[in-house]
Amino acid sequence: MINHKHVKAVFTQEGEQRTIFVSLSASNGEGIYLVAATYIKGQIVIAHECPAIQLKRTCWHSDVVLDIYRTVFKQHSELQDARVVYLNKKVVMKKEWIQIPMPKTYGVDNNEHNIQLLA
Ligand SMILES: [Zn+2]
Repeated sequence: MINHKHVKAVFTQEGEQRTIFVSLSASNGEGIYLVAATYIKGQIVIAHECPAIQLKRTCWHSDVVLDIYRTVFKQHSELQDARVVYLNKKVVMKKEWIQIPMPKTYGVDNNEHNIQLLA
């Protein structure tokens, strides 16, 4: 199960359809990763500046953002099994970004919360 505790905020941008931006805190607690996810020509493209992507590996940032992306667009069946492409590209926050509520239907944190309620 993917751990979402590092997810800080999720954004969209007006005029950018099927695109989200996610800010994540680094796993060592220092700094923020900004990750963009969009849908281009039948593929989900996940972009951020990351040493792992430079080495052609995926990373937990990409996994978390892909999971959020599929949750935000869960009504769009074509996005659920689309091929995923990873790009090493710096993402810069813009003032046009609009923060959206965290999707609530995913993740470890919700399950943990439920367990606590039941305990
Ligand atoms: Zn990464």
